[in-house]
Amino acid sequence: MHIAFAASECVPFSKTGGLADVIGALPPALVSLGHRATVFLPLYRQTALDNPRVVIPSITVPFDDRYRFCSVLDGGMRSGVQFYFIDYPPFFDRDGLYGTSLGDYHDNAERFALFSRAVLEAVKVLGAPDVLHCHDWQTALVPILLKTLYYEDPAFAAAPCIFTIHNLGYQGLFPPEILPLLMLPWDLFTISKLEFYGKVNFLKGAISMADFITTVSRRYSQEIQTAEYGFGLEGVLRARGSTIAGILNAVDYVSWNPETDPFIAAHYSAADPGGKAKCKPDLLNQFGLATDTHLPVVGMVSRFVPQKGFDLIQQVADRLALEDLFMVVLGSGQREYEEMFRRLARQYPQKFGLKIAYDEALAHKIEAGSDIYLMPSHYEPCGLNQIYSMRYGTVPVVRATGGLDDTVEQFDPRTLKGTGFKFREYSGEVMLEALRAAVALYRADQNAWHVLMQNGMAQDYSWINSSREYVKVYERARQIKQQAAGG
Ligand code: ADP
Repeated sequence: MHIAFAASECVPFSKTGGLADVIGALPPALVSLGHRATVFLPLYRQTALDNPRVVIPSITVPFDDRYRFCSVLDGGMRSGVQFYFIDYPPFFDRDGLYGTSLGDYHDNAERFALFSRAVLEAVKVLGAPDVLHCHDWQTALVPILLKTLYYEDPAFAAAPCIFTIHNLGYQGLFPPEILPLLMLPWDLFTISKLEFYGKVNFLKGAISMADFITTVSRRYSQEIQTAEYGFGLEGVLRARGSTIAGILNAVDYVSWNPETDPFIAAHYSAADPGGKAKCKPDLLNQFGLATDTHLPVVGMVSRFVPQKGFDLIQQVADRLALEDLFMVVLGSGQREYEEMFRRLARQYPQKFGLKIAYDEALAHKIEAGSDIYLMPSHYEPCGLNQIYSMRYGTVPVVRATGGLDDTVEQFDPRTLKGTGFKFREYSGEVMLEALRAAVALYRADQNAWHVLMQNGMAQDYSWINSSREYVKVYERARQIKQQAAGG
């Protein structure tokens, strides 16, 4: 099968979050299963290419006010995957991918409309794939275009379009006037298509029109069909319920491996875990905390946004500081959360370590040197850090939502089964209880703790399993498309 990906970011070319990791890892995993994969990306200022070659000098993209002309560059092959870049400097040669610290770029709808149309035009020249796979609101116009302006185009008669939701919180909402500007018909502005409380919602359109929808964990695929997690799109998602699948993101165990990690103080493995004891004092040192290795260290690495459950920490912050533990936090984001952690670090300097930054090396040190990793997310489509934690023998304490619920199994001290501690109710009190249960086990029973660590280290979330599940979805979507064409 030939699968063409359209996405707005991909490591190592461009990254703001987990989407880039998935686009960097899934296509090569499909190639290793014997499939062909092509990836289309925007050519951003931050994208560095060696000797790119122009393969399509000009693609015309009509807008209401003018025609725009972009080109397609061949970015070469990496791990068997062919990369193409849509080059249109007025839109993509900018500092940020989607905006600056002041907010989103005002012309994001036009930017990603141009990208989506250019991908469809490029695919027609370069060879139509068997499957198109699009991701998040930035490429949501691809399935919408395929069901409208490109509906009769023979190039896409057989290829189904799969749409993956990486985070339902980002939908691509624009004023209605965007439709004529993008040369899209007004009849899309209905409640069954793109209209959403008076605005145009790209994500809603893709959910309604893609041939198949996936999300990044099974639990999240169910949660988004409920009012609590659906961001107002639960009804549209429920209507598509039989064509939604949850496929867990996998992780890159080459970068996240305590046996080879270049950032940590000592290497270790499940068979020889001794090195972890050296990583703990190194971590405490990094944060200027006393190297008292009897107390458990609780780590967090995160974007400081409400999604990640920081209001739960806010609810119990001072009581947390009275517990017998150290807490080390790395991240940045909303001011109120930065302020909260700054206050805690000031008030309890012997207990709280804080670094407000994006720091890859320190993130690795936290995974290796902590005993417990705290992830109390309000919602979590998949989540990566809890998976890294398990591989590093760091016990996750998580809220049972989305991918956290799918990947962490509650530890049972009687059977010694399980990989971490989970709590369900979204309350600071209940989070504190779960954390206390973990700390109590750590202090009372080092043998059981050792088994718990080993259980986590034995987990395998590599791409080979997840990519096989994607292949099944592609096959099913092709059948659905064939049946629709025949019927
Ligand atoms: P999300 O994509 O919602 O931010 P994930 O858990 O899926 O959450 O992925 C977050 C990734 O970003 C992880 O690899 C994590 O280590 C990394 N990360 C987040 N914040 C920081 C930071 N301040 N410094 C270094 N790495 C970070």
